[in-house]
Amino acid sequence: MKQVISLKDVTGLKASGTKTFSVPADAIVTPSAKDFLRSIGVAIQFDGVSAAAGSGSNGGGAYVTSAASAEPKWKPEHVKLFNSPEAERIKEQIVSVSHRLWKREYVDGNGGNVSYRIGPNEVLCTPTMVSKGLMRVEDICMVDLDGNQIAGTAKRTSEIYLHLEAMKAQPKARSCVHAHPPHATAFAITGAEVPRCMIPEMEVLVGTVAKAQYETPGTKAFAETVLPYCKDHNCILLQNHGVLTWNEELEKAYWFMEIVDAYCRTVVIASHLGAAFTQIPSSKIGDLLKIKKTLGLPDERTGLKEADYCACEFRPGVVCSNPNESSAAAPDLEAVVKIVTEEVMKALSK
Ligand SMILES: [Zn+2]
Repeated sequence: MKQVISLKDVTGLKASGTKTFSVPADAIVTPSAKDFLRSIGVAIQFDGVSAAAGSGSNGGGAYVTSAASAEPKWKPEHVKLFNSPEAERIKEQIVSVSHRLWKREYVDGNGGNVSYRIGPNEVLCTPTMVSKGLMRVEDICMVDLDGNQIAGTAKRTSEIYLHLEAMKAQPKARSCVHAHPPHATAFAITGAEVPRCMIPEMEVLVGTVAKAQYETPGTKAFAETVLPYCKDHNCILLQNHGVLTWNEELEKAYWFMEIVDAYCRTVVIASHLGAAFTQIPSSKIGDLLKIKKTLGLPDERTGLKEADYCACEFRPGVVCSNPNESSAAAPDLEAVVKIVTEEVMKALSK
């Protein structure tokens, strides 16, 4: 019978000062016991192989060393990295970002994914088929740069290839966030360009937004659609799909997702006001690009003439797809109202 280790079995460890807690390979460690061990910095040791407190299946570890186990046997060096203090810290961050993506309605169902390149060939990522709103530290998995899973019990996301291509093409893309935020995705499903030079924060932290062509999600062809844009863009719209953002720091990759969606939302709201957009003067955009350079962020406008900084294809809403519609709308509507009114009056007078 498997040994069950609950909170009462581990509370005494706090006073002992120990950093590891050994249990049989097939032991079941309850969630409250795992949480407590993590809170006091004690790692669980399954039959001699260390698993960070709070990780994994089997009620305890993210992997199991027991011969009877059906779990894969990960390489010791991967297990060590996967359970290192740095990996645990990153896993917590991935969970935090996942929860915020879900709370802000940037993801739906099991959509969206988050990753972090923790080693030259090792990437922590979210699993498939888990809502970002319910993501837990023990759900996080680890893959190599070819997408092969090398640690973790939950199955890695099928969209990891998208992240890996960005990471391979752009060494600064240590963290990637992919989501389907509705306002930015609205631009990804239309021919409307995300306009430039409207809000300073967007210029400095994101800049121009590229749009990668459509491909079937989860395929290699899909992953490669971002390759032309990773060098000069930290935010890429995926046509008919969503958004990919990247940065060296995970928190910032997430910021860019917030910034691009808030920007697109503001543009959509502004397009309903019936007034022309006012761009920041090109001469002032140069100041913002200088700030951007000091932050080490890419911008495709580097090297362009000042006059070209704000070249913008965007025209709001129906005005963009049918230039005659907005100016003609009012008289046409009046004509229709007049005809209807006349018909109603005629009917009433019979
Ligand atoms: Zn997606």
